[in-house]
Amino acid sequence: MTVDEKRKLELKTMYQIIGIYCHNKHHTPKGQLCEACEQVWKYAEHRIDVCPHMESKTFCSVCKTHCYAPNYREKIREIMRYGGPRMLLVSPIQVIRHMYLERQKKRLAMLASFFNGFITFLCNNLMLLLCPIQL
Ligand SMILES: [Zn+2]
Repeated sequence: MTVDEKRKLELKTMYQIIGIYCHNKHHTPKGQLCEACEQVWKYAEHRIDVCPHMESKTFCSVCKTHCYAPNYREKIREIMRYGGPRMLLVSPIQVIRHMYLERQKKRLAMLASFFNGFITFLCNNLMLLLCPIQL
């Protein structure tokens, strides 16, 4: 996945979550945002657009740099808490993909250490097997 695709996915996910939140909480029609939510969205959109960490990080939710201004951060956190789980009902594949990307790095590290252990184990046992023959 390229940086650009990641950015697009992040934007899409964010927009959908804000949409769910606004639709349920502020009773705006589906696909529309009220003025307050539109403002939050514009802010988040801009932050994602200018994010310098897109290449190295996975997603804003797990980013160490908190680039949102405090008042927006609180609002966005509230929206995420509300809309995040509901996203799972609306588009489960996208959420799973999102979660998968977040965990991918961790999983790769685990896989690497597993293989390391496995190869060490193999080498040790191979030595044990070969030793009697050599002797
Ligand atoms: Zn709203």
